[in-house]
Amino acid sequence: MEVFGNGISVNEAGHLTLGGADAVSLAREYGTPLYLMDETVLRQNCRDFKDSIDRYYDGNGLVCYASKAFSCKEIYRIVKEEGLGADVVSGGELATALSVDFPADRICFHGNNKTTEELTMALNAGVGRIVADHIGELQMIGALAAKLGVTARVMLRIKPGVDAHTHDFVRTGQIDSKFGFALETGEALAAVKAALATPGLTLCGLHCHIGSQILDIEPFVHTAEVMLGFMAQVKRETGYTLSDLNLGGGFGIRYTEEDDAPPYQDYMEAVSQTVRAKAAELGLPVPFILIEPGRAIVAPAGVTLYTVGALKEIPNIRTYLSVDGGMTDNPRYILYQSRYEFVIANKATEPKTATVTVAGRCCESGDLLGEHLPLQEAETGDILAVLATGAYNYSMASNYNRVPRPPVVMVKDAVPRLIVRGESFSDMYRNDI
Ligand SMILES: *Cc1c(COP(=O)(O)O)cnc(C)c1O
Repeated sequence: MEVFGNGISVNEAGHLTLGGADAVSLAREYGTPLYLMDETVLRQNCRDFKDSIDRYYDGNGLVCYASKAFSCKEIYRIVKEEGLGADVVSGGELATALSVDFPADRICFHGNNKTTEELTMALNAGVGRIVADHIGELQMIGALAAKLGVTARVMLRIKPGVDAHTHDFVRTGQIDSKFGFALETGEALAAVKAALATPGLTLCGLHCHIGSQILDIEPFVHTAEVMLGFMAQVKRETGYTLSDLNLGGGFGIRYTEEDDAPPYQDYMEAVSQTVRAKAAELGLPVPFILIEPGRAIVAPAGVTLYTVGALKEIPNIRTYLSVDGGMTDNPRYILYQSRYEFVIANKATEPKTATVTVAGRCCESGDLLGEHLPLQEAETGDILAVLATGAYNYSMASNYNRVPRPPVVMVKDAVPRLIVRGESFSDMYRNDI
């Protein structure tokens, strides 16, 4: 029998299980499409990152869950309970986190174009770190902080110029990126000087994030070296010692057996060694470290279930298997040709002898979830499971074609509970006038 890992297994009925719960029964109970999340896997991933900072960096750091990967109240509650911080990139994510009393001092607020309203909200809430992305924003934060009578703790987003070997749309460390200040051009040093000269701000450190779904350790190590080098330059040229270093997220996960993802601890072990060694070499105090895993925390905990509808065989070309969801609940294939593992949940022990293209229900030929996939022989009415969909699925979902977003069910020790209600048709036109 196939071993799936991440709390996913097969029961005596030959059905796929997640966290001990039968996926076919869950599909019957809650309907499809359905997002499932396994709480045990989610918490374990939080702990793995936290433990790695404790073990390799004497606990001198904070894991901030990058909540754009999956933002809803219950996820913030769990992440809070696990002692992590959170990253937010919008007023909406910040409001959701604050709605469950997420400790504001453990929140990092990012984004390349935050609005005055969002920055005001962050300053009023006492957000621990605001990551400034351009000079105008530094001035805006300073002015708002003065007006509100608070001091803003600010980090600067730096482009370290490291190639992360990943998809173009998720590479963010290179000079041609909309995010942050470039090192090579002197822009980053000018920004540090501007921040130090702006009243109302405390410059607590630097931030970088080189991309997403990165499967090598080397780009992270290289980034840490570059950032420490820049911290030393800042000290030399301004006399100022930056206390915090935020190394971002982007840790890759195993979507299919082709992805060779290192264990999470290995990143932290390598990066910790580099940061310590470089700090010693450059005569800097060892910085407080932040890391921002998003995908790696939630993706492996998620599974999406669909009901198989139309099957269309085009002789000598391909067989389309259509499901009752698609790009509206998972736009990652149409965006990045992302690969996933697919299983017919009610035939999980059967061999994958068919080859199919899984199509969604939207009026777009590109609305696919995968092409030329090995799968069990499927019939209309079967339940199709897509694995490792916990990140950037629910959070990127849309109402295109006025398709309501599916509910989210959290499973813990085989017991399911609804954490996000599915949308109704009236939710589709609720705000229409
Ligand atoms: C998206 C993002 C992350 C998380 O990336 P993952 O690949 O999900 O780990 C972390 N930090 C910043 C600034 C981001 O934009």
